[in-house]
Amino acid sequence: MSSYENTCRYFSQAAELMGLTSNMRKLLQTPQREVKVQVGLEMDNGEIGTYIGYRVQHDTSRGPMKGGLRFHAEVDAEEVLSLATLMTWKTAIVNLPYGGAKGGIAVNVRDLSAGELERLTRKFVDEIHDMVGPDKDIPAPDMGTNAQIMAWIMNQYQKYHGFNPACVTGKPLELHGSEGREEATGRGVVIVIAAMLERLNLKFDQLTFALQGFGNVGSYTARFLTEHKAKILAVTDATGGVWNPAGLDIPQLLEYAAAHGGVKDFPASEPMSNEEFIAAPVDVLIPAALGGVLTAENARDVRAKYVVEAANGPVTAEADHIFEEREILVLPDVLVNAGGVTVSYFEWVQNRQHFRWDLPRVRNELERIMTDSFNRVWNIATEKKVPLRVAAYLLGIGRVGRATVLGGI
Ligand code: NAD
Repeated sequence: MSSYENTCRYFSQAAELMGLTSNMRKLLQTPQREVKVQVGLEMDNGEIGTYIGYRVQHDTSRGPMKGGLRFHAEVDAEEVLSLATLMTWKTAIVNLPYGGAKGGIAVNVRDLSAGELERLTRKFVDEIHDMVGPDKDIPAPDMGTNAQIMAWIMNQYQKYHGFNPACVTGKPLELHGSEGREEATGRGVVIVIAAMLERLNLKFDQLTFALQGFGNVGSYTARFLTEHKAKILAVTDATGGVWNPAGLDIPQLLEYAAAHGGVKDFPASEPMSNEEFIAAPVDVLIPAALGGVLTAENARDVRAKYVVEAANGPVTAEADHIFEEREILVLPDVLVNAGGVTVSYFEWVQNRQHFRWDLPRVRNELERIMTDSFNRVWNIATEKKVPLRVAAYLLGIGRVGRATVLGGI
């Protein structure tokens, strides 16, 4: 099942419960615009490189569209469409005044020099600058992209449209970025876990954790889990993985990964593959890298009691069903990783007002929104006796549906 079919399956489950008509379902699911562009650039060795870039704009009923930009070899039209759809429900679940979008380029960034990466980014902006902007569609970082890339996007965009830092979020602090944006997704993940543990009457130090992905989301999640005295036994990434039954030293692992480009061969640990990660003997599994890693084939191997979707779409619909049968609680991506887009929203607000917030304000507002959203989702799940994902979709689709009808079709 493709990532888009997965997202559609989740949508249909909620739409069925809501009694949405087939016309309404079609209207809400169909993207407004899907663009595929050729991004050609001169490589350092003088050869011509040709890459394919995508931007999918899914829904505008609640405001301008918002969504990350992914640079990864596996990016394709269907994955971008699936991620754009997720953004529509996600922004609605945390009640931000946005619709959903997503973009990407099929490229392995490790194969490019810094100069090639900059030229690729600027060329992509040349191709899509007319369809994005502060009141249309605002990109942000995702897998393979970072604050530097957002700075190049802002700079290239202003060559066409003049100074307007709200055209992109996740920028460096020195260039109209927001305090707390880089840590936001990981911080949001841990806020949601804390809210869940409170409902379950559990404490962080009573549980063990395993993480897949040690990039932006994974590394900040690990950092904040450690602040709560949680024990992280396993971390894997694209280079491999490490395992220590007594708990990994996360501050040291962060330093090691920064120096070595990944976690592989970290001292004071055993190696662990990404396949072994799935069956890690821990309480909480946190996929924070790729989509589609927990599938019908491996869902029965999972030994954890909780799966926290820090990545987008890490659990396929079949695996989700198996987890439901096995009473493994899944905290869904559309809620768990919404901290990133929430602080992106704060950045956009600050840029539009030309007024900076300090870090405590960003963190407090993030905590308020994430905790409130978790509580709403939890209460719907309890009231309607449905899994948390279905509850989250009921909340998000309900908000988008009502805005669509009120705005007029
Ligand atoms: P990143 O590029 O900073 O890090 C990605 C991590 O995944 C790296 O540690 C990399 O080594 C690892 N990885 C890549 N391929 C892998 C593989 N085959 N097996 C195991 N690990 C692999 O990306 P990120 O921004 O941390 O994003 C991670 C996930 O979180 C994505 O699904 C993304 O869509 C989602 N997300 C990110 C944000 C954000 O603000 N950055 C917000 C919401 C959701």
